Amino acid sequence: MTTTPAASKPVVVPAAAQTKGTNLHWHEGNISRAERHKQLQTTGATLWFTGLSASGKSTIACALEQVLVQRGIHCYRLDGDNIRMGLNKNLGFSAEDRAENIRRIGEVAKLFADSGCIALTSFISPYRADRDAARAVHEKDAAGAIPFIEVFVDAPIDVCEQRDPKGLYKKARAGQIKGFTGIDDPYEAPASAELVLKPATMSVEDSVRACLKMLADRGIIPNT
Ligand code: ADP
Repeated sequence: MTTTPAASKPVVVPAAAQTKGTNLHWHEGNISRAERHKQLQTTGATLWFTGLSASGKSTIACALEQVLVQRGIHCYRLDGDNIRMGLNKNLGFSAEDRAENIRRIGEVAKLFADSGCIALTSFISPYRADRDAARAVHEKDAAGAIPFIEVFVDAPIDVCEQRDPKGLYKKARAGQIKGFTGIDDPYEAPASAELVLKPATMSVEDSVRACLKMLADRGIIPNT
C-alpha cells in the first residue's frame, strides 16, 4: 500500500489497484462504443449516488430503476450491501478496504456504462478521493469520456438516524459497530456534485423526477 497527499487526507492506494500482470496488451474490439450505442439505441452513463447510511440512496435508485426499465431504458443497480455479499465479499470497512470497494465499483460501473447501460450505484462512498478516482476512470477512458454523474443524497445525520431502517446507527451509538460513517468515521460531502437531492424535504418521487430531468437534459435519455 502507498499513500499520496490530497487536500483532505492521504489517498490510500490499495495494493490491489496496482497492475500486477505483465505483457498485457489492450485488445480493441471491431466496433466503437458509438457504433454499439447507436445500434442498440442506448447511451451509457453512471449515476453515482453518495451519502450517509440511510440517507435514501438505495430507495431512490430502486425507484429510478423501476421508472427507467418501464420506459424500456437499459439500466442496472449496483448496491452497496449486495456487492459486498458477492464481488466484494472479501472486503471490510478499513480505509484501505473502503477504497478498494469503491475502486472495484468504479471499474464495474464503467463497464456497464460502456456497454450502453445506465449504471446506478448506491454506496456511501464517504471519501472524496475515492469518488474522484471512480470519476477519473470514466472520464479518462481511452475510448473517450463516459458520463459520470455524482448525485449527493444530502440528508442530515439526525434524519438518517431517525429513519435507521437497518438499526445501524443504534448499534454504532451503542459501540457495537466501529468506524461507522457519520459517527466515528468521516463523510466528506461532495464539493461539486452534478445533482444534490434533499430527502428531508423531497419525496422519493421528487428525487426520481430530478434524476430523470438531469438525464434528459444531458441527452442520456429521451425527453418525455
Ligand atoms: P441508503 O441506501 O442511503 O443507506 P436506504 O434507501 O436504505 O438508505 O434507507 C432510507 C430510508 O429512508 C428508507 O427506509 C426509506 O423508505 C426512508 N425514506 C423516507 N423518506 C424518504 C425520502 N424522501 N427519500 C428517500 N428515502 C426516504
